[in-house]
Amino acid sequence: MKKEIKFSHLHVHSIYSEIDAICKPDELIRRSVELGMNAIAITDHGSMKAVMEMAKFVQKQKERGCIDASFKFIPGTEAYIVEDLETAYDNSSVRHLVLLAKSEVGYRNLCRLSSLGYLEGFNRIPRIDHKMLEKYHEGIIACSACLGGEIPRLIADGKEDEAEKVLLWYMNLFGDDFYIEMQRHVSDTEIYRTQQHVNEVLLRLANRHGANIIATNDVHFINAEDAEAQDEFMCLSRKYKKLRSDVHYTGQEYLKSPEEMEELFSDIPEAIYNVQEIVDKVNVDILSLHDSSLVAPVPKDFENSKEYLKFLVMQGAMARYGKTIPSEVLNRIEEEMRYLTENKNFADYLLLIYDIYKSIRTELGLQVIGLGFMSGSIVCYCLHLTDVDPIKYGLTNLLFYKDAPHLPIALEIGIDDIGKVRRYLAEKFGSENLIGAVSFVPWKENSLKNNGINNIAILDGTIRQDWVSYGGVLIHANVLICANDMMSKLPLCRVDDNIVSQYKMKEIDCSEVCAIGIYGIYDLSRIGEILKQIKDKNGYDIRTEDIPMNDKSTFDLICRGDYFLAVNCIVPYLKQLNRVTFCEFVDLWAVVGLPQWKQIAEYIAEKNNPQKMYPSPAVEAIFKPTGGILIYREQLFGLLIDVFGYTRKMALDLYDDILDSVDDLQSHKEEFVRRGLERGFSVDSIDEFWDMLRQWECLAPKSSVYVSNCMLDYRLAYFKANYSEFFVENENGYEKECN
Ligand SMILES: [Zn+2]
Ligand SMILES: [Zn+2]
Repeated sequence: MKKEIKFSHLHVHSIYSEIDAICKPDELIRRSVELGMNAIAITDHGSMKAVMEMAKFVQKQKERGCIDASFKFIPGTEAYIVEDLETAYDNSSVRHLVLLAKSEVGYRNLCRLSSLGYLEGFNRIPRIDHKMLEKYHEGIIACSACLGGEIPRLIADGKEDEAEKVLLWYMNLFGDDFYIEMQRHVSDTEIYRTQQHVNEVLLRLANRHGANIIATNDVHFINAEDAEAQDEFMCLSRKYKKLRSDVHYTGQEYLKSPEEMEELFSDIPEAIYNVQEIVDKVNVDILSLHDSSLVAPVPKDFENSKEYLKFLVMQGAMARYGKTIPSEVLNRIEEEMRYLTENKNFADYLLLIYDIYKSIRTELGLQVIGLGFMSGSIVCYCLHLTDVDPIKYGLTNLLFYKDAPHLPIALEIGIDDIGKVRRYLAEKFGSENLIGAVSFVPWKENSLKNNGINNIAILDGTIRQDWVSYGGVLIHANVLICANDMMSKLPLCRVDDNIVSQYKMKEIDCSEVCAIGIYGIYDLSRIGEILKQIKDKNGYDIRTEDIPMNDKSTFDLICRGDYFLAVNCIVPYLKQLNRVTFCEFVDLWAVVGLPQWKQIAEYIAEKNNPQKMYPSPAVEAIFKPTGGILIYREQLFGLLIDVFGYTRKMALDLYDDILDSVDDLQSHKEEFVRRGLERGFSVDSIDEFWDMLRQWECLAPKSSVYVSNCMLDYRLAYFKANYSEFFVENENGYEKECN
């Protein structure tokens, strides 16, 4: 019987290795699983940029049952290391060192080391030194790396004695967690000849000192047949002419199967099984970490933050809905509160946001509002973080359903107030605990050109566009806050002069820090100015939330085209409607730019003279308000939950799978058809509904976004209609294109 070979790759590069590798993070994981491996590490050069993305992907695949629950993802980096940064004036002494996180402590130290490389040791590449390792080695497994590693390089240079000294230094520091790496890139190359010599000495040193050996393959591309693409890419990115001897790859650096690796090291079996020893040692789930020091201030009358949050929400609910709160509202509050109080420190996080909002309003005297996703939440509405009533506008809460440590929450403030708010946050949390967020974009043709790389014709040939490396672009809109020691919670780097996270914004919601989007809205500055003038001249306060949403003069003004709208093209259609309410205003706004724009005549006809027949009253309730056409994602949630009897969780899972374009939706479809038949729908109409679900992506991305934006536009129009003497036309307006 063939015995099972356990082998996993622990030295692996992705597209985040700064134009040095072409592996996409998700493909690395898929291929490893396909090859029967039970773990994979990621060790990009100097950075941890792929770490959170891969951890999230693995977790999601596990939830879907595509990856076994025992599969381990190991966060790591291949650090650039020098002995002493103070004397490393140039990069001639820079060597490689593979570092893997073994535990939570190890992950935190890895984040620190990777951050320090950028913040303190940067010289074209992020560098760390021995002193940093001495300080932050706990919980980390170190491996000697490729021929670029300290020990292999000394051996290759004929300095065996020095190599031995360095080996002992590492063994002394890391103990059993130091491993000698052995790579065998069998080929007719200088590299392989050097490897053979270096390996021979490494083996001798290992035996002499009882050091552990592991086999790695320094993976730079996934399949053997990608070798040429890797080559082309290297030439391209390094501005070399294509000349294999110039390129430091042998064609063997692919994700080899466990069988291939065992075969390659059949004479040193411990190099294979020691890999499993490392895998067994690793025990870290970076998605479950949370910053327990990030706590909100709670008045002493309350036992804890959850109690205090409940109190504030109920108080807010009474202010919004009156003393007798409708049961629908109470149910929704209960559902959201259950989620917020059961998940990690959500209650604290939301209280912190509440506190920030309150301070911006009272201490700084500025306008602040949560647009977008927050508008779907009743808790946010009751806490006055948004003015959009999710019940009234039938909004689904898409904010509180992911089991992520943090909620993606935003502050929308006047455009001129961004500096003030950032300063306030820096004062409150300490500027060292406040950083920006970064977005990584593929180095597309233009940026390659900007980097002096002109030979981009190859991009159309061998190199796939999505293999192109990722470069960082700073997004000023977002700030990340933590209670203390940012570097231990998030790997940092620098973009221009700004300290930013190595993780992308969409991965930060799974990290421990509190991410807040800060967006400057010109119209909020205008509203703030108008309110101030009204108070100065007329002597009274107007609260924006008290502005009536059915003001006739406001709609007359909008329909006359007397108010500049970001979507002016909807004005002629508003005029065709017999009666315009805020909801129609929102619908037309949302439809601009969608394929449904073609159905606008149908929408108007149906609104003016409803004639459509629906297969059931429940279906009618969902589609009639939008003139019988499908505009919003919320309508599909309504279809699943109200018509097909899905739970919220089931509906959101299906939504995720469709949006992630999961190939196999068969089991979802079977469930859908079963429920449809049970409810007496014909096969044809079930198919029609199923086709609608597949359109999820091309629908208006959450009507909450449109409702809140329209509300802002409506409020300004209200001031123009009713307080024209205080109204100044917007000269900076932009116009959304109608098609
Ligand atoms: Zn290396
Ligand atoms: Zn490497």
